[in-house]
Amino acid sequence: MASAYERWCYLASLVVRILAIVFFAWPFSVVAIAGRDSNQAASRTWITDVTIVSPEKLDHIEIASVLIENGRIVRVERRKGAKTPTGATVVSGKGQFLIPGLIDSHVHVTSLPGISPEQAKTNLEINKKYFKQVPRSYLYYGYTTLVDLGVAVDRPVLEAMRQAPLHPDLYSCGDALVFANGYPMSFAPPTIRFKLFPNFLYDPKQAATIPSEYKPEDHTPQADVERVKDSGGICVKTFFERGFGQDRNLPVMGPEVLAEIRKTANKAGLVLMMHANAFEAQKFAVEGGVDVIAHGMWNWGDLGKQTVLPPEIRQVLDQIVEKKIGYQPTIEVLQGLRAYFDPEYLKTAAIPKVIPKEMLEWFDSPEGKWFKKELAQDDASDAAMSEAYEKGPVRRVRQVVAYLAKKNANFLFGTDTPSAPTYGNLPGLNGYLEMQQLQKAGLSLAQIFEAATISNAREFKIDSQLGTIEPGKTANLVLLKKSPLQSLDAYDSIATIWVHGEAVARDNLAAD
Ligand SMILES: [Zn+2]
Repeated sequence: MASAYERWCYLASLVVRILAIVFFAWPFSVVAIAGRDSNQAASRTWITDVTIVSPEKLDHIEIASVLIENGRIVRVERRKGAKTPTGATVVSGKGQFLIPGLIDSHVHVTSLPGISPEQAKTNLEINKKYFKQVPRSYLYYGYTTLVDLGVAVDRPVLEAMRQAPLHPDLYSCGDALVFANGYPMSFAPPTIRFKLFPNFLYDPKQAATIPSEYKPEDHTPQADVERVKDSGGICVKTFFERGFGQDRNLPVMGPEVLAEIRKTANKAGLVLMMHANAFEAQKFAVEGGVDVIAHGMWNWGDLGKQTVLPPEIRQVLDQIVEKKIGYQPTIEVLQGLRAYFDPEYLKTAAIPKVIPKEMLEWFDSPEGKWFKKELAQDDASDAAMSEAYEKGPVRRVRQVVAYLAKKNANFLFGTDTPSAPTYGNLPGLNGYLEMQQLQKAGLSLAQIFEAATISNAREFKIDSQLGTIEPGKTANLVLLKKSPLQSLDAYDSIATIWVHGEAVARDNLAAD
């Protein structure tokens, strides 16, 4: 059932790549950027009497005041009655909770949700409005840092987002390392697939199918990893996926290729991430010493019908715990597909906050439901389809995540938004929904909070700047009306977001 998602994941990125230049009309705003810098230089903010919820001090929650200066946290004052620093704008945090900005370490900001490659060509206005809203929607739900895992990265789109007036910090894994003719380049026609995936891995056994203009020495693990590094990437994304549907026997890398990627990623200081959602794939990833597994294990292969977690799976999960491998359950990948079989989904009250209303209207039209036909199986009813997700992949991934949660695995918060051209994975909102899935699967509120703050910051080596509320760090902060350690809906009680010290009220980030 995950097959359509995988297939369209590729197509969506392809069409965006082709059309990005048409969509984007954002001029490079020198004025806006200069304006923001000078504002920062002059600005001092003093957030008073607020409950600090910072992941390094969860056992010692205190009320304090925080001073922001030049986009950084410069002081966390725990003494009572401290004087207001001169010239500071005072924000009362009384009765509220301050957390570090949230980090989503698995997004595809340049992919379109819910729109097919063909339709994208005739919906240019909607698409343009959507891409302008994307960075704001992430901020609306408190996500101030994103790691983009775009398969074939569309740099103009990424750059346009980085230059938007208000946007999350945007890191990237550069162009993914795709095994020659393997997933996901297998979905592109043979004549163009090597061009579309310029950072592919050469496979001598398949030399006959690789155009002669591509030289083996330019597509070694080392050459590929260096290209990611040179493009400013902080991570390397690769895949172990044998395929599905018509393409069940795609070529996959062997352990010696992964070992070479591992070695060169280490040398380059890059985090190694592997797409793996099957038991076999996660076993391979663990044995190859990857840093992060980019999906939950919802495909158990021959063990899929077993209702209790089989011992051979537990063994792999134990190693994930022991080796502290970063684990992104991405349960919303499945819920995002299931959304097409939920007649109430498009009535979700939060949707108009994160996408333009024209887009929602279009999703609700017969044309907007095209992806449902891709997912539907024979004449199965909505209820039957929904149940098939619930009893199959969703049940399996929940069992896996519950086991890992009990052992306090190194969970990393990542949503894979959008995992397909599904309208079920919308920016920002999908993070809130993923948190609900994690809680349902057995993560505690503290585990969810850590996964979305300090654990992500540490894994991606950005913890000197992000992930906690401590002096010296970037002032990416979120003020909540409720405590995220008391209830999950705290993440939907946001009052104010600070991005590099610049305050914005949540309501001002909603779509219109
Ligand atoms: Zn992804």
